[in-house]
Amino acid sequence: MNIRLEKHDDGIAHVIFDNEGSAANIFDRQTGLELSAHLDTLAADTTLKGVVFLSAKDSIFVAGADIKSFLTQQGSQEDLQRMVADGQAMFNRIAALKVPTIAAIHGACLGGGLEMCLACDWRIASDDRSTKIGLPETSLGIVPGWGGCARLPRLIGLPKALDMILQGKRLAPRQALKYGVIDRIVPREHFERWARTKVAKGKPTRKTHWFTNNPVMAKIIAGKVRPTLVKKTRNHYPAVFRALDITTRGVSLSIDQTLTLEREALVELIQGDVSNNLVRVFFMQERAKHLRMKNISIVNGADTDVSNLPGVNNVTVVGAGTMGAGIAQWCSARGRNVVLKDIGLEALTKGMSAIGKVYHSATKRRIFTRTEARQGMDRINPTTRDVPLHNMDMVIEAATENMDVKKKIFAGLEAQAGEHTILATNTSALSISELAASTNRPDRVIGIHFFNPVHRMQLVEIVVGEQTSPETTARTLKFVQKLGKMPVVTRDSPGFAVNRILMPYLTEAGHLFAGGASIKDIDACMLDYGMPMGPLRLIDEVGIDVADHVASFFGTAFGDRMPAPDSLPRMVEAGLLGRKSKRGFYVYDGKGEPPTNGELSSYVNASRHSDLSRDQLQERMVLVMLNEAARCMEENVVSAPEDVDFAMIMGTGFAPFRGGPLRCIDSLGAEKVVESLDKLAENEGIRFAPCELLRSMARDNQSFYSD
Ligand code: NAD
Repeated sequence: MNIRLEKHDDGIAHVIFDNEGSAANIFDRQTGLELSAHLDTLAADTTLKGVVFLSAKDSIFVAGADIKSFLTQQGSQEDLQRMVADGQAMFNRIAALKVPTIAAIHGACLGGGLEMCLACDWRIASDDRSTKIGLPETSLGIVPGWGGCARLPRLIGLPKALDMILQGKRLAPRQALKYGVIDRIVPREHFERWARTKVAKGKPTRKTHWFTNNPVMAKIIAGKVRPTLVKKTRNHYPAVFRALDITTRGVSLSIDQTLTLEREALVELIQGDVSNNLVRVFFMQERAKHLRMKNISIVNGADTDVSNLPGVNNVTVVGAGTMGAGIAQWCSARGRNVVLKDIGLEALTKGMSAIGKVYHSATKRRIFTRTEARQGMDRINPTTRDVPLHNMDMVIEAATENMDVKKKIFAGLEAQAGEHTILATNTSALSISELAASTNRPDRVIGIHFFNPVHRMQLVEIVVGEQTSPETTARTLKFVQKLGKMPVVTRDSPGFAVNRILMPYLTEAGHLFAGGASIKDIDACMLDYGMPMGPLRLIDEVGIDVADHVASFFGTAFGDRMPAPDSLPRMVEAGLLGRKSKRGFYVYDGKGEPPTNGELSSYVNASRHSDLSRDQLQERMVLVMLNEAARCMEENVVSAPEDVDFAMIMGTGFAPFRGGPLRCIDSLGAEKVVESLDKLAENEGIRFAPCELLRSMARDNQSFYSD
């Protein structure tokens, strides 16, 4: 049984979602059947006074439709049509109930879960961290299809509804209240009392949002929103355009007419490649959230018993720079006590001020209350002194990227750390095994690579050194998951997974620039491909000095296969460091989009790339990434193709609708990829030579994924 129906003495019925055998409530077939049967009972009950929809779970109200069952409907258009129509009809029946209906939301209320609540008269929500409210369908390449496009604009007005639907926003309770999606924040234990008072008042009438929800305004709004969507999505994500169309047209149609539009769009979109790949990304995220040692083939320790391993509650972060401050903020926001240590008082003050800014902005966006932010700040203890470490569960070193500096820090840490203290480093590229070997306890050393900015980037690479113990890996994995980040476990090798694949792409952009291709073409063709930023612009953001440093590190690690472009050190010498020096491939003098730097001709040393079309430029930069991604599999840097694809999508924004570099190889076919790489290698050298794994896959007509 997934739903209980309880009728109370006061005539109010409670519909309680409690999916059997699962921590989550989702709308699967069984839940739909049960809800439908309960609605029959409720509609026939002449003594009924009101209905409250609740969840018995700790952190989920209803997390949405069962995506797996949607996927298995592939190819069966009629079944799919029926499934969507059934959901719509069910929520129409809730809307048609004669008594007041109240959705009392505690935990995640997403997609179909929210669409059910939109069919109710009132919505209240608990002020709990787990309570998240939204319609994330467009991020799965589909549109809300159970009344979201039809009912949300009527409830909160067209502009706010578009804001939520087109961005797939998941609102915290206070944000949801501001948007008008919920009527009140109510402590969970007061849900029933609040419902009783509303039931006593009868069905509400709601304001109509006549100013925005009329055909003329809707047309104006759509006309304004569409160009920004085109710019943002480069037309790769059809769902947002369909949602815009349905939602804006819907305000002057009946609910039923709008539901028909929803149904048609959903059925069409769900069968497309974009939605397929975005749903795969969703499952990759779920996989990362629930990753266990037994799924990680690159490390021994499948049988590690994690149940009795100590958790990570007390953390020391060494280095209060960009990353150290970010890590300290995130850990403190997730309830950890943090000692933040730096050698310089100025650096420490700057770090604390950066942390304050993140908390401040989160309070402004209603993610935290002021009290929560203050409590978070209070959990951080900044210091320039040596601190006792024997009680620390983990030390995360985020000091300057230099092996000698890090070895010295680790020697000090090792002497003071407790028996159970994990010694982690946030290095982007240095060898974990080398660092570990300089200590007497290499089994406790591990890489924990957060991305910048820490509060926005969900990915964390966990880098396992040669001697890292399975217990250390298991505890770190659990810690990262408890922090709400998404882990990918990689073997210790240059650049781990993300930078390993990203760097050849960035250096290829550097080679193309030095060979005479225009900055504009190089960046524009990769934006067209679906990357969030052009590669040269990204180099500017990272810092040309940092990019040059990493490029030469890779040049040393991989030799001719990854030669560093010689334009970069010369630009650094001339003080062109990218955004931080206001000059790089672009000029950052004013506001808005920076123009390309017109004074870089002396860094172009050939003209052989000047005639390449944007397609040709794109092909080169994409192929080096695909080749390197395949190499990561060949060298067992990660355990599964999902690790590579997920890491690239989450770590670099690699076009999510393409499903990741390895998925791209599968879509193109290994044979075609090898053929194109061979052709380029013939003219340009071995940096394009396909790896052995790709060759063998091409020979045997194999793919990375079996589905
Ligand atoms: P940063 O230069 O901003 O900060 C480094 C801090 O470490 C400085 O405040 C410095 O005073 C402090 N420090 C130096 N020696 C120390 C010591 N012995 N004890 C205590 N503090 C010391 O550097 P960052 O960008 O924050 O990078 C830190 C680490 O994170 C590096 O290993 C880097 O490779 C890695 N990383 C950086 C990024 C990024 O985008 N910046 C991303 C991922 C990983």
